[in-house]
Amino acid sequence: MRWALIGASNMAQEWMIEAIRSQGGEIIGLYSGNIEHGRQFCERNGIPACADTLDNLLPLKPDAVYISSTNEKHQAQVEWAAEHGLHVYCEKPLALTLDSALAMVDVCEKNGVIMATNHHLRHAALHRKIKQCIDDGIVGQILSVRVMHAVYLPESLQSWRVKDKAAGGGVILDIAVHNADLVAFLLGEYPVSVSTHAASRKLGVGLEDDSMSIWTMPTGVAVYTHESFVTPFAGTALEVHGSKGSIVASNCLTQKPVGEVVLSNESGSKALTIEHHNLYHAAVSDFCKAVEANTQPACDGVAGVKSLSVALSMLQAAELHQEVEVFYG
Ligand code: NDP
Repeated sequence: MRWALIGASNMAQEWMIEAIRSQGGEIIGLYSGNIEHGRQFCERNGIPACADTLDNLLPLKPDAVYISSTNEKHQAQVEWAAEHGLHVYCEKPLALTLDSALAMVDVCEKNGVIMATNHHLRHAALHRKIKQCIDDGIVGQILSVRVMHAVYLPESLQSWRVKDKAAGGGVILDIAVHNADLVAFLLGEYPVSVSTHAASRKLGVGLEDDSMSIWTMPTGVAVYTHESFVTPFAGTALEVHGSKGSIVASNCLTQKPVGEVVLSNESGSKALTIEHHNLYHAAVSDFCKAVEANTQPACDGVAGVKSLSVALSMLQAAELHQEVEVFYG
């Protein structure tokens, strides 16, 4: 598949260029709003062409685009791609409003192109193992889930994410969307309502950098999430507690293929064997297969809309200091 990149981002450079190439993809060009930065990016990453407008990507004849610009730009770029018949692999959060995200899904559908959202966690071998345990009934009836997604944002990333509301900054839009997608992947459901406390503790400038939330799920499972940019030593964790057993995974909410899982039940505790693989390779592979077969990818545009809906409701709940029903459009 011939790919064009939209956005000369850290995410593209650190993870996605390699992931696309690992699946046989050819990156034939890049669009950046800053041509000097774009040219240097292309040189560093072996990309043959740098375009200063989206339309200048068209003569390169891409089949698909990977969009990793800042979040407020995603909508217009997805619309442009879909209207030119290009398949879309878009970063999360899809957009800043539900209407924008719905419009993005809509334009892809109308133009018959495949759209995927880059929620990587559902592609981790470790999370797939946990899902298998849930689906096989090993933990029994699920009672509660705890998502501890609290990290310290590296200095190199302390830019728009913590300072720029208009670009879609804030820990909730950045991290809670991943939590919503992961919980949906594991449980097969999204929250009906959320209660959230959010604060700016250290890095956030007019934006939250730490939040905790309780979600009410349709089946009654209680979900508790913590997302943070300011906890250097917390470590990430995921816990699933059921009537027959508990699963506790550590160091697992990350971009890297790492982490451990322990299953505890009346027989005792045992570590589960995980054969880790690169999460983004798996995600891009899934997208390529969907394009080839003209089917939906595992994490499609609708999944991106739903994870955004949860995050937007969390923001609203934090602002109102009350439980908020999640509206999915
Ligand atoms: P960056 O800050 O690295 O890049 C965002 C945009 O900023 C770029 O597209 C580029 O604009 C501009 N930019 C970056 N560096 C420079 C520079 N030196 N000079 C001029 N302009 C610059 O963002 P991230 O890589 O952190 O995030 C990009 C997207 O990826 C976001 O949507 C984010 O939420 C998502 N993301 C997803 C992850 C996942 O696991 N799915 C993980 C991390 C991020 P231009 O578009 O004009 O080239």
